[in-house]
Amino acid sequence: MEYIEEKKMAHESGNNNYRKIAFYAVLAVLIIIFLQWKYQVFFSPDKECLSIDGSKLMLESHGKIKMHIHPELKIKINGKNIEIPASIGITNTGMNAIHMHTLDGVIHVEAPCVRDFTLGDFFEVWGKSFDSEHILEHTVNETSKLKMLVNGRENNEFERLVLKDKDEIEIIYE
Ligand SMILES: [Zn+2]
Repeated sequence: MEYIEEKKMAHESGNNNYRKIAFYAVLAVLIIIFLQWKYQVFFSPDKECLSIDGSKLMLESHGKIKMHIHPELKIKINGKNIEIPASIGITNTGMNAIHMHTLDGVIHVEAPCVRDFTLGDFFEVWGKSFDSEHILEHTVNETSKLKMLVNGRENNEFERLVLKDKDEIEIIYE
């Protein structure tokens, strides 16, 4: 008799534990749903797009595009125009947010969120050097200088320049 009572009690306290766990589980789920709905704590469609390095953002084939700009880039080394490959940012596995389609120097920047991309991000995607002292395989020295023009005006931001629609960027090394 005593044994049965004990067993019953154990069973009931087991039930209570189960109810407690279920209660907290439901509460946790509700809190998660609320935080996500109110503050997008766990997942935001823009979160990754906003936080990832500008050169590493890849486009999903059917993803929505919220940003699409076309700055233009010319590179002149010792008086000669350098051809910028049309394949930059395009691989078998996908397309980078920063990419080219043509040989006319038009940079395509397409992203699922509106954010900053820099000229340095473009060179990162290309896999070439660029800063105030380097352009491609060339380095500034006593005889050769590097300057950058944005819409005809000299600009000292170099790789930190934030890309803007229809900006005409010229990098001149001579
Ligand atoms: Zn485009």
